[in-house]
Amino acid sequence: MVLNCRKCGKEISEEANYCSYCGRSIKAVPWKTGFPLAGGILAISAACASMFVGVVGIGNFALLLTSDYTPSYPRHALLLIGIFGLAGFAFGLAGGILSLQRRHFAWATFGTSLIMISSLVDFVASTPYSALNLWIGQFFGIPKLILSTLSLTLIAISKADFT
Ligand SMILES: [Zn+2]
Repeated sequence: MVLNCRKCGKEISEEANYCSYCGRSIKAVPWKTGFPLAGGILAISAACASMFVGVVGIGNFALLLTSDYTPSYPRHALLLIGIFGLAGFAFGLAGGILSLQRRHFAWATFGTSLIMISSLVDFVASTPYSALNLWIGQFFGIPKLILSTLSLTLIAISKADFT
């Protein structure tokens, strides 16, 4: 019976205590500090909020491109919110999943940081203009920022749990 090393992916014997390729312990590693599980779940929640913002932002931008209506704000504000929303979703989801697996600490923190950055972009791009289309940036920027800040904090203090 063989299994794959969780760190390097090579096939190793189930009876082995350590991976003969990279030296990682095969037996279940007990949790040391704390909260990568909670941090990962929060990161995934924040990523889902970010996806919603991204889809609505890009969708509204595309609608404005194909209509004669000229809004009172720059259309690019919507594009910016959309792109950063989707980037926050992709990297935040990856970061959340990595955090649940306690792997790649740097990518896990980068992913959650990117959701925080995209929340700030939401505010900066939407706040100067009062327009119904931009409510997504103002309204969803807040839960995104709270969830991603909590998540990043929990992941950052759990560094010892990552392999
Ligand atoms: Zn290995």
